[in-house]
Amino acid sequence: MEILHVSAECYPVAKAGGLGDVVGALPKYQNQLGHIAKVVMPMYRTKFLYENDFDITHKGSFAMGHYWFNYTIIKEKTNKLGFDLFLVDINGLLDREAVYGYSDDVERFTAFQIAVVDWLSKWNHQPEIVHVHDHHTGLIPFMMKHCYAYQHLSVIPTVLTIHNAQYQGWMGWDKSNYIPDWNTWEWGKLDWEKNINPLASAVKCASKVTTVSQSYLEEMRHNANGLENLFEYERGKCIGILNGIDDSVWDPAVDTYIESNFSVENVHEGKLASKKVLCDLYNLDIDKPLFVFIGRLVHEKAADLLPQAIYDSVYHMQGTMSFLILGSGEPGVEWELENMKNQLVGYYNSKIGYNEKLSHQMYAGADFLLMPSRVEPCGLNQMYAMRYGTIPIVRNTGGLRDTVIDVGEPGGYGIVFNDATVWDITYSVHRALELYKKPKRINKIRTTIMKIDNSWENSADRYINLYNSLQ
Ligand code: ADP
Repeated sequence: MEILHVSAECYPVAKAGGLGDVVGALPKYQNQLGHIAKVVMPMYRTKFLYENDFDITHKGSFAMGHYWFNYTIIKEKTNKLGFDLFLVDINGLLDREAVYGYSDDVERFTAFQIAVVDWLSKWNHQPEIVHVHDHHTGLIPFMMKHCYAYQHLSVIPTVLTIHNAQYQGWMGWDKSNYIPDWNTWEWGKLDWEKNINPLASAVKCASKVTTVSQSYLEEMRHNANGLENLFEYERGKCIGILNGIDDSVWDPAVDTYIESNFSVENVHEGKLASKKVLCDLYNLDIDKPLFVFIGRLVHEKAADLLPQAIYDSVYHMQGTMSFLILGSGEPGVEWELENMKNQLVGYYNSKIGYNEKLSHQMYAGADFLLMPSRVEPCGLNQMYAMRYGTIPIVRNTGGLRDTVIDVGEPGGYGIVFNDATVWDITYSVHRALELYKKPKRINKIRTTIMKIDNSWENSADRYINLYNSLQ
């Protein structure tokens, strides 16, 4: 089967979070199962672009509102990612370094989607499935059905995967002329609460909808940033498929980002060597348990609770632990986390920004990973942490609920708490300290979690079954 994934991110070309990891891995595993999966994404000006060779595949043009754009599709020459990678170049819109965060993101991603559909409509090699990811590609199922120039594409089934329903790509109806000539009787397929809502539109128009964990799918019927009723109504076409992790990239035995590789056999020594690197770099005490947080410093991740929870833990538990934070996001939270460095010298440190190497070093060197998320569709960090023998401390929500069992339960290997509150986080830190006093137990948990199979094989197969049901 031939599948075309359309996404705003794909690791290692461009990544801002879990979406990039998933789109960088899933197609590779689908190809290993004997299918042909390809990826098309914007041609940002990232390192990957300059370090690799590409062929021009197609050139075209389209109107968006009153503007005319030329686009070029290029293809990476060597298939080095394990799948065909196509990049869409649109000068003036996509030729930027970062993936998101520009004031014209609506225009950038609408133009990207039009270019993809336009290219698809002229391509002599059309896929059997178009698989779109998140709101940045959410208008594609609508365009393939209801834009007059592209209606011949309506025979191709579309699948939407929701990695995060908090962001929906809202745009005002004044921008409806961006979408190429469409059947205005179908306006209801674009609308949600008097705005054009690309995510809602994709839920309405795609043949099937998946979310990245079963628990998240259930939660969305009660908490989906305004789309609760839509998910309730469309639940017949929605299924949850848990993300996997790319265990060829995330493998402590061969990871080139970490100084000292290790496996289940030498996990204690391996982690200690990585912890030493971190403690030396960030002035922390190697003899104390190290708690880390890696991620976007935003409300969904409950990053706003971290400063108080860290203070309370250090003061109430007499500084018997260290904390290290890596992330970027809300300026207020960044400021607090930076400011705390001077007050908790030797107990706490942080690195504000995005740093792939440091994230690997932290998964390898930490004792515990904190994920107090308010919302967590799947969460990859806890799975990476476990692969590197780091014990996850997670809130009981979404994909975290589906992947971590509390140590108090039979067969448990993590620490799970219910509420996104400072109290629940500090109490969980206290539980972790108690656990840390039992080295044999810690070692046993480490070897258990490193052996958990969270690889893509299972999930990649579930997607194929889903596609088959649409043929
Ligand atoms: P989300 O996609 O909601 O941000 P996920 O848990 O699904 O969360 O995926 C997060 C991914 O992004 C992981 O690979 C994590 O290591 C990475 N990541 C997040 N923030 C940073 C950062 N500041 N530096 C390096 N990697 C990061």
